[in-house]
Parts: sequence; C-alpha cells; structure tokens
Amino acid sequence: ITRRINYRGSIDEVGRLAMTLDRMLDRLEEAFEHQQRFTGDASHELRTPLTVIKGRIGVALSQLRTPEDYQETLQALEQEVDRLIRLANSLLFLTRLEQKNIDLSPIDLSELLVILVEQFQLMAEPRKIQLKESIEKDLFILGNSDYLTSLLLNLLDNAVKYTPDNGQVWVKTQTDTEKVHIQVINTGKGIAPTDLPHLFKRFYRVESDRSRHTGGTGLGLAIAYEIVRLHGGTITVESQLNQATTFTVSFVANS
Ligand code: ADP
Repeated sequence: ITRRINYRGSIDEVGRLAMTLDRMLDRLEEAFEHQQRFTGDASHELRTPLTVIKGRIGVALSQLRTPEDYQETLQALEQEVDRLIRLANSLLFLTRLEQKNIDLSPIDLSELLVILVEQFQLMAEPRKIQLKESIEKDLFILGNSDYLTSLLLNLLDNAVKYTPDNGQVWVKTQTDTEKVHIQVINTGKGIAPTDLPHLFKRFYRVESDRSRHTGGTGLGLAIAYEIVRLHGGTITVESQLNQATTFTVSFVANS
C-alpha cells in the first residue's frame, strides 16, 4: 500500500495517528472522485436534451414553412424541456437525500401500498397490464411517508413502464419476526446478469432502454436506493433475460 504519510517510527500513538490520517485522506479522495464523476455525468445528461433543442430551433429558423411544421417542432421541444425538468428535479431530490438524516415516525406501509396500487391501475388498464396485489394489513415501520411514497412510486412506475402490453405486475408483501418485505414483480424482457450489479447507480440505464422513449432519467433506482438506505433497509433485484424481474425492499418492522 502506498502511504501519503510516511511515518517510519514504531506503531505508537504517533504511528496510529498517521494511519488514521491516511485513511481519512483516502476517504476524502474517494468522496471527491465520486462527486466529480457525478457532476460530469449530470452535465452530460443535461447536455443531451439541450443539443436536441438547439438543433430543432436551428432547423425551425432556417427551413420550416407551414404552421404544422412549427406545431410539430414545438411539441418536440416541449418533450425535451419536460425531460430537462424531470432531470433537474431528480438531481435536486437526490442531492438533498444525500445530505439528510430524516425524522422517522410509525408508518403503515400497507395503507401506502394500497393507495399507490389503486393509482397505478389507471396506468395499467389502457395497456391491458394485469396489476395484482397481495398486501397484508398493518405493516408498520419507522419511516418518512413522503420518502416512502417516492420509493414505492419509483418501483411501481418502473414495473408498469418496463412491462410490455398484456403483461403482469404483482405487488406482494411478506413479514417475518423482524422484517417487512415488499416485492414488486413484473413480466417483460428481464435484465441481463451484466446489467444487474449497476442498476442502482446514478444514470445507469440498460442499453436497449436508453434509446426507447420511456422518458427515463436513470435516477429512479438511485433515488430508491438512497431512500432505503436512509431507512436502514435493503433493496435487491433479481432477474434474468426473458424472465420476470423482482425488486425486494426490506425494512425492520416496528411492532
Ligand atoms: P429510468 O429512468 O431509466 O427508469 P431507473 O434508475 O429507474 O431509470 O432504472 C434504471 C434501468 O433499470 C432502466 O433504464 C431499465 O433499463 C432498468 N429497469 C428498472 N426497473 C425495471 C423493471 N421493473 N423491469 C425491467 N427493467 C427495469
């Protein structure tokens, strides 16, 4: 190991101090690199819609003629601006989450889930997606209801978004002596083993979904991960290509 602080004396108090300082520097450097990568990625993600907007405006100014042409351009511009707004909101939310310790109070996940599943039925129906639930009653945990709503919204939104028409989504809960587990399962093309370890990273999107117009930002699961972390829980994903995908969130029960 290369050390920044070269203390060659014995491992007495000064030696231990030197080692502690060295470890602190490692951690600072890591945090700094993480921040730099994040800023770089965020700038790149912001630039993509801006480039599209600039290109569309250029064409409109130099070539377009009919009101229909302008109408179409304005609609495309609106889509890109919406994308920028979603991106900015998610970035802000994620940054705030990172800086926070949250106040926790008893929350019934059961109630939250039932309300959300009902809302998502409206999105699932037109696409003939069967949205089923088996949600137990009284699933109390210590949490923050706004953040938990965001977390479950993200998971349900993805499940419906990435399920093809006529597919299925299930929301299940399970409890054991200490924990509450929530599973969101959906049919579809599944996720390859090479993608699975990266899903919770910021801006990571499976290649084939990048080009699709799902309007995603690649931040939904990173936000989900942070919210679960703030609640002291865990989030995992299981999937294989052409198999169902299961996201499992587990929290310590508050009984
Ligand atoms: P996005 O904004 O792209 O949805 P997320 O962070 O929410 O970003 O998800 C990252 C990627 O993980 C998605 O682009 C998609 O490829 C994949 N993914 C997430 N949820 C699911 C799911 N339920 N089924 C299949 N793929 C999923």
